[in-house]
Amino acid sequence: MNALNDAAAARKAAFEANKLSKKLHRLVGQAIGDFNMIEDGDKVMVCLSGGKDSHALLDILLEMRRRAPIRFDLVAVNLDQKQPGFPAEVLPTYLRSLGVPFHIENQDTYSIVKSHVPEGKTMCSLCSRLRRGILYRVARELGATKIALGHHRDDMVVTLLMNMFFGSRLKGMPPKLVSDDGQHVVIRPLAYVAERDLERWAEHRQFPIIPCSLCGNQPNLQRQQIKAMVREWEKQYPGRTDNMLTAMSKVVPSHLMDRRLYPFETLRAHGVPDPEGDIAFDDEDPHALLAPPASIEPVRLQKGKP
Ligand code: SF4
Repeated sequence: MNALNDAAAARKAAFEANKLSKKLHRLVGQAIGDFNMIEDGDKVMVCLSGGKDSHALLDILLEMRRRAPIRFDLVAVNLDQKQPGFPAEVLPTYLRSLGVPFHIENQDTYSIVKSHVPEGKTMCSLCSRLRRGILYRVARELGATKIALGHHRDDMVVTLLMNMFFGSRLKGMPPKLVSDDGQHVVIRPLAYVAERDLERWAEHRQFPIIPCSLCGNQPNLQRQQIKAMVREWEKQYPGRTDNMLTAMSKVVPSHLMDRRLYPFETLRAHGVPDPEGDIAFDDEDPHALLAPPASIEPVRLQKGKP
């Protein structure tokens, strides 16, 4: 009986893994297509930190390259920042087993950050700045035409909210951008993928994960709080995170307040009715625009009454 149960459980697990694999490949393919992230002849440098997200990114891109109608090269790059206890052999061993070209860049940014940031202060911003500069240089040296990062849907949404809450800006995390030095195109092929799915995929594929806490730095508390809030919302209202992501691709400048994006000053009535036009006084909640519930009686005006 136990053997039968085990076999059924194994079949179910294989079915679920196959379903998840299809979903991940579909979403990554869609993001790559929507933003023209990878083109024929590209050499894509995949930044591999050793966390679940970058592992999944490399894994999915390797599989996609096998089936893609275009030809592109992949090279995995890990920056060994010389953090105490960093298991330096884990990634090279894994990458060799995959047969993917790779480069390990050894740079002791850990000591630099430690000596420049006072004890108890967050080290992340200097650490990221140093890392970014090094990765740009490595991309140039390797002749990479694109730099792929493992940020996912939840990162994009959390960044949007953080910029609103703490930076007073309506600004997210783009799926594709030109780097600040103007030299590189950075892509985020996991832009449509939920973090939960990456966790499940990492578990299924048994990636050799390297914990990101080796530097001993406290994680950014504000980001953690927003992340927890988004997760809680998603639990209460499934689909909300996807809605927020979709909202980022349906921006209506005429209904925001940025005078650089919409000519509010020169706006004039043009006298031409537009059935799709603005309804000005009504609630714009999409649900409120549906027919009113049957229980609401139409208001009848009576003579002499307001
Ligand atoms: S958590 Fe540590 S390794 Fe990661 S960015 Fe911050 S300081 Fe750097």
